[in-house]
Amino acid sequence: MTFASRVRSLRPEGAYHVLARAQALEAQGRDIIHLEIGEPDFPTPSSIARAGIAAIEQGQTRYNPPAGLWALREAIADDASRRRGIAVRPTQVVVSPGAKPNLFFPTLALIEPGDEVIYPDPGFPSYAATIRVAGGVGVPVPLLESTGFSVDLDAFDRALSPRTRLIVLNSPSNPTGGVIPRPDLEHIAEAAQRHQCWVLSDEIYARTTFDDQPAPSIASLPGMVERTIIVDGFSKTYAMTGWRLGFGIMPEALAERVSLLLTHAIGCTAEFTQVAGLQALRGPQDEAEAMVEEYQRRRDFLVDGLNQLPGISCRKPAGAFYAFPNIQAHGLTSEAMAERLLEGGVAVLPGTAFGFRGEGYLRLVFANSMENLARALERMAEVLRRL
Ligand code: PLP
Repeated sequence: MTFASRVRSLRPEGAYHVLARAQALEAQGRDIIHLEIGEPDFPTPSSIARAGIAAIEQGQTRYNPPAGLWALREAIADDASRRRGIAVRPTQVVVSPGAKPNLFFPTLALIEPGDEVIYPDPGFPSYAATIRVAGGVGVPVPLLESTGFSVDLDAFDRALSPRTRLIVLNSPSNPTGGVIPRPDLEHIAEAAQRHQCWVLSDEIYARTTFDDQPAPSIASLPGMVERTIIVDGFSKTYAMTGWRLGFGIMPEALAERVSLLLTHAIGCTAEFTQVAGLQALRGPQDEAEAMVEEYQRRRDFLVDGLNQLPGISCRKPAGAFYAFPNIQAHGLTSEAMAERLLEGGVAVLPGTAFGFRGEGYLRLVFANSMENLARALERMAEVLRRL
């Protein structure tokens, strides 16, 4: 069968591939600890779930405005204004089923074939896929382990060209957990203004940061609101991955275009899901905050344990729920190491699932119980002993 060139190079996410391999081993009776799928292990807080159920029972199961319920757009604008220190109007907010459409549609709305888009490598695989489908030319820029996986600014400067139209940032990052510090954001912001390009800032882990150190948003820097698309959502902060609820914040004219794409491709986001999201934002935040405290405990436990394993070194991630240990001392590829660990009962992702610069690293999700993390460390020690 022949397909259009824009979809020919699409591949599934690495996490699903490893999950399928792990499940095949489980079907043979093997016990596998799952540290490959990046989602909270906590249930959706019950007050949020109850709001969604009540909305279904009250018949909020119909079409609604493509850009989202006005009350939710208002709540998102209020929340983003307060947390990021910028003035956001509800008309700048586009609600979507999950954050992903707000990566995809703004890219589609801005990129002409041949336009260059800078994106992080290692990075969330949907960036490269989205850029390619939009007809853009992806220009990967490395993240530097030595700076806590911030952007390599020298490589960034070399990657800029007159064709650069969009810069994708992700802080805190999947897969490294790195946060881009303010001076680095200032450097990138200055370049974006000089080159008159857009910035797509994926801030879906903005509420998951540790040691009371928030991740700054590039949108809060002078001159940046008018050229930034903030992507965020409810999946990670409120443990709502399966509800599918996210949003983008962008200049109004772009929000209108993105809403039109959403109108024709999706229609709208389920109303009862949005009602649940409204409860998430307007209701008590203690459960969301308790999750972050627990992730921090688990991070400390896992990273300390990883650093005691032979030939492994791991920086403490400043955000998200991913550890990204360096395994280069073992001289195995990331794929080969992930495969050995899977055979030893621990499912992790090779760093290369996030781009070729992920070679030499693994991604471990610590949104898992302390017991499982402890068992995973024991199993990893056993695998490494036998190498
Ligand atoms: N951006 C990043 C960096 C992610 O890690 C994810 C999910 O793993 C998403 C976006 C997508 O979020 P959602 O499930 O809300 O579409």
